[in-house]
Amino acid sequence: MKEFDIKQVVRPNVLKMKAYSSARDEFEGEASVFLDANENALGSGTTEDAYNRYPDPRQTPLRKAIAAMKGIQPDQIFLGNGSDEAIDLLFRAFCVPGKDRVLSLPPTYGMYTVQANINETPVDEIELNADFSLPTEKILQELHPDTKIIFICSPNNPSGNLMDPEAIKTILNSFAGLVVVDEAYIDFAPEGSSLVQAIDSYPNLMVLQTFSKAWGLAGLRLGMAYAQKDIIDILCKIKYPYNVNQLTQEKVMQAVQHPEKKEQMVQTLLEQRNWLEEALQTVPSVQKVYPSAANFLLVQIKDATAKYRTLIERGVVVRNRSSVALCQDCLRITVGSAAENQKLVEELKQL
Ligand SMILES: *Cc1c(COP(=O)(O)O)cnc(C)c1O
Repeated sequence: MKEFDIKQVVRPNVLKMKAYSSARDEFEGEASVFLDANENALGSGTTEDAYNRYPDPRQTPLRKAIAAMKGIQPDQIFLGNGSDEAIDLLFRAFCVPGKDRVLSLPPTYGMYTVQANINETPVDEIELNADFSLPTEKILQELHPDTKIIFICSPNNPSGNLMDPEAIKTILNSFAGLVVVDEAYIDFAPEGSSLVQAIDSYPNLMVLQTFSKAWGLAGLRLGMAYAQKDIIDILCKIKYPYNVNQLTQEKVMQAVQHPEKKEQMVQTLLEQRNWLEEALQTVPSVQKVYPSAANFLLVQIKDATAKYRTLIERGVVVRNRSSVALCQDCLRITVGSAAENQKLVEELKQL
């Protein structure tokens, strides 16, 4: 087993560089006159005079609140402008352009490859097994010596299944690079499915989560990366100084202090997922509804692309995944409100 050594994995220029030091970084104490950041002392160009000061660059209170909720330490959390920011920073921190490689396991989330392309990082792909489980042996056998990051999405988008945690741990133990487990949909999976608690045991594990799905805050843009402190420190070193805006920090803090609303919505969406799963089985053109641990269903249906287009004509938009690996004739359908789900099923029955 190869040991994970962050100094071997991070890009040499990133290891050497010094982070930008903002006015807010250099002075943290109490004061009444702030003339250090060239802000507008008079107020804001909005109805509320609330946004004239730069936000907390380290998001300290919010990271503390999230750490308490997740049972980890605040210095094990990076907060970004969506989890997409964390994915982007991972490439910039760990992948020397044109040299280092990453591994993606299709069918999966498209942003890993998009961000890799931007950073000129070659992407190796190994298809998931036919049941969308991890081809663990194959992954370990075919790993390229320059591979820095393996992306595992669990529950996986678009297939909806959780990956076996034991398989992920086998990969963590046998790989000297980073294993990024994207848990964007983890709140819809059975309790205890998250690997967040495992970051203390695995120095090469990063877990991604987001406020965009279960929390219903996609518009605020807040994503989390959890890992041991030395990895988080690297991401913090290269992020934009004020990457999470004031409004987002305030609104997410409110949400975190009242998790009942989110829990209730998750409950309702899980009931609706069950309803939709059963209702779709009664649609004659539906061939298969894959089991889901997320807030969407992957559905195999006759002539998926034609159905997709007709649904759009009737004002119902789903995601056509039929050109994606292992997803022939598949639509990915988000679980919506009861009325939306009923409308979808009615339209499908009429096609
Ligand atoms: C929706 C989604 C995200 C969330 O991205 P944000 O930038 O946080 O909105 C991350 N990963 C996967 C697999 C997703 O489907």
